Amino acid sequence: MANPTDQLTDEPARVLRRVFGYDTFRGNQREIIDHVVGGGDALVLMPTGGGKSLCYQIPALVRDGVAVVISPLIALMQDQVDALTTLGVRAGFLNSTQDLDERRRMESAFLAGEIDLLYLAPEALRSEYTLRLLDRGTIALFAIDEAHCVAQWGHDFRPDYLALSMLHERWPAVPRIALTATATTATRAEIATRLNLRDARHFVASFDRPNIQYRIVPKREPRRQLLELLRDEHPGDSGIVYCLSRASVEKTAEFLTQNGIAALPYHAGLDAGTRAANQQRFLRSDGLVMVATIAFGMGIDKPDVRFVAHLDLPKSVEGYYQETGRAGRDGLPSTAWLAYGLADVVQQRKMIDSSDGDLARRRVLAAHLDAMLALCETVQCRRVQLLAYFGQQGAACGNCDTCLDPPESWDGTVAAQKLLSTVLRLQRERNQKFGAGQSIDILLGRETEKVVAHRHDQLSVFGIGTELTEVQWRGVVRQLLAQGLLAVEGDYGTLVLTESSAEVLGRRRDVTMRRESTRPAPARPARSRAAGSAAPVAELSPAAAPVFERLRAWRAATAKEQGVPAYVIFHDATLRQIAAQSPTTLADLGGISGIGENKLARYGQQILDTLAS
Ligand code: ADP
Ligand code: ZN
Repeated sequence: MANPTDQLTDEPARVLRRVFGYDTFRGNQREIIDHVVGGGDALVLMPTGGGKSLCYQIPALVRDGVAVVISPLIALMQDQVDALTTLGVRAGFLNSTQDLDERRRMESAFLAGEIDLLYLAPEALRSEYTLRLLDRGTIALFAIDEAHCVAQWGHDFRPDYLALSMLHERWPAVPRIALTATATTATRAEIATRLNLRDARHFVASFDRPNIQYRIVPKREPRRQLLELLRDEHPGDSGIVYCLSRASVEKTAEFLTQNGIAALPYHAGLDAGTRAANQQRFLRSDGLVMVATIAFGMGIDKPDVRFVAHLDLPKSVEGYYQETGRAGRDGLPSTAWLAYGLADVVQQRKMIDSSDGDLARRRVLAAHLDAMLALCETVQCRRVQLLAYFGQQGAACGNCDTCLDPPESWDGTVAAQKLLSTVLRLQRERNQKFGAGQSIDILLGRETEKVVAHRHDQLSVFGIGTELTEVQWRGVVRQLLAQGLLAVEGDYGTLVLTESSAEVLGRRRDVTMRRESTRPAPARPARSRAAGSAAPVAELSPAAAPVFERLRAWRAATAKEQGVPAYVIFHDATLRQIAAQSPTTLADLGGISGIGENKLARYGQQILDTLAS
């Protein structure tokens, strides 16, 4: 570990201050950078917003030659290069969107060492032409971004990523650093094997994202609930809303727009041009909501996404963590909100049952879903449970719904027995299977058409469950499903008993349930915490708030003029600090986190003028 004086004087620390405008390394950035600068291979697991980019960008600037960065999303390369250019870093990319002239210019810049970073899509390395080009230049390092692409079954980019295992054979002396925000040990092991990184040092950061407030609510009228969240807590904020199907993406985007919230759809059914245009608008505007399937989001490094909302249940905790992780990269308070209901469970089970792939594959999918359900139904701190899933420990966080508004648990054994015995009787006495609705109607003693037609009013369980409401019974079914005490099958989501059901029916097992809150969760503002620090982000003073708005307006105009996203100029966190401190000289301004030499020279005077205006 370097001592503080070294930090000020050695090359990586000087680059951190001079180029990026930051004073201290975050987490294990320092160790990773030293390791790669020294020529070692590294596998870096760090959550979104943890600061992965610096881990290869600083070595790229310190080591001789050009760093080759492998990044899967061609559409985002221009933004990545623009962001570096405003920092005064020489960077470029080679991809299929360029014309021959541009390519030739970039190739000669690479060969002459006139750039420090070269971005390539993984498929480029399958071309012999590119490989020979790389042979002729000096390569500082290979950075393999989004390295989990190599491990994810069925991932679009997987074949190209698998081919990257040859980097080591072809350039054994060039250090490689693979980076991912995916955290499970299984994925990590697979990345190491597939990319030939078994001898690499592994750096695993804490996966906690303290500034994200996790909330999971029972789904009632999901779009209304969403609208309430956006109006009450996130007016004018940028955010992402995830939906499972293309149809619900379209409907939700329309619904928000009709209700006065600027929203755009994104899904694989839209043509490539529309998708790219919507993505660009989302990146470049303040306060736009993207309603999307999970096709959207990888590589999106917009730092000021203030909320990620899920209107449908994610398929796995890993997916949930990745998607919610797109909120709050700038470390400012953000919300991860999920509405989930019984229909989600039924639908997902159905999807698993009808998915292609063998039995083993379906078992894996089912295990993923079970872990996700357990997270939804927990009465413990969500964050503790989330971190535990990734093999990390934490204490109750005070910034999730279960910490802020602890759910009551109740002894649901009798209710569980009533429900399970209804399912059992339908099956045994009538040789019938039904969905949750019918069992609930029977328990509530409702003489619906379907109940009467099937003479279910003759069953001994008819009307024995009037102590609970329909909503509460649905909660019971959901929780039994989550605990594996009940299962759904078939196209209609019919309820069936599991092996463990007998334990409950035979009174050998008690069932604890989470009480359904009858009122919507109180809106509590996400607690202000900067990523990686325990210090709350101070609220802007009444005097500073309008200054911050002026700075934002200046930033918006400047970004527009330069054709780059606003955050490429400065992050909100930096503008907030400027507003709070109101520096009057360039020297003072240069001391603020996020203002490096190049940005100071380029924008410093304009900022001072804006402050003085
Ligand atoms: P990741 O790629 O891991 O999601 P980024 O590299 O985009 O994260 O970094 C997230 C944010 O944190 C960026 O705005 C980045 O500038 C900032 N950041 C990274 N390292 C530091 C640091 N040492 N000090 C202050 N801010 C940092
Ligand atoms: Zn908590």
